[in-house]
Amino acid sequence: MGPNDVFVIASNNKGKINEFKTLLSPAKIIPQSEIVQIEVNETGSTFFENALLKARGVAGFTDHNVIADDSGLIVPGLNNEPGLKSARYATDDASDDENKEKLKSEMRRLGFKEMPAYFVCVLVMIASKDDPLPLYVEGRSNGTVKTKSIGDHGFGYDDMFYPDGYCESFASINASTKLKLSHRGVAVAALKERLK
Ligand code: IMP
Repeated sequence: MGPNDVFVIASNNKGKINEFKTLLSPAKIIPQSEIVQIEVNETGSTFFENALLKARGVAGFTDHNVIADDSGLIVPGLNNEPGLKSARYATDDASDDENKEKLKSEMRRLGFKEMPAYFVCVLVMIASKDDPLPLYVEGRSNGTVKTKSIGDHGFGYDDMFYPDGYCESFASINASTKLKLSHRGVAVAALKERLK
């Protein structure tokens, strides 16, 4: 992957876009918002389907390769919630804070201060809207969710997710460590391997 490579990221999530800029450097990253103003409906029932829907939604508006990320936090002890609905856990247009509050209240309701959890990230890359052979990779990051938040960087559930082997959350460890450990970092490493 070099400075002449260009990828459109099919996402309006600034946290994700920033991570892709670092993870795919020195390739040029174009956020979806510079190509088209749309919000693709995530109507699939798997991370794979939703990633493909997002990639296809944007690919019709560009000639560059499009990468979409569908990701989420899975808490097995909560029936795998927030899961596919991680971005919309509290309500359809919930903020990160509202989603985290809902997760904390579910944990408290069951009497837990912490629970095993993992993040997943599915990436799909397509060369065109009708690409018959989308490239899929996935990454996973295991850890614990806690009702106690620490740290003030990152996005989403970062400040309540503590990766295995660390006392710090994704929002308090340094950003490059998060990228190395995270579901998105693992998925992008797999993508780079496939593109070699
Ligand atoms: P979607 O992929 O757009 O459906 O949204 C995934 C949601 O999962 C985000 O809005 C976050 O709430 C959560 N999420 C995904 N990746 C991360 C991460 O790296 N840190 C924290 N939260 C994340």
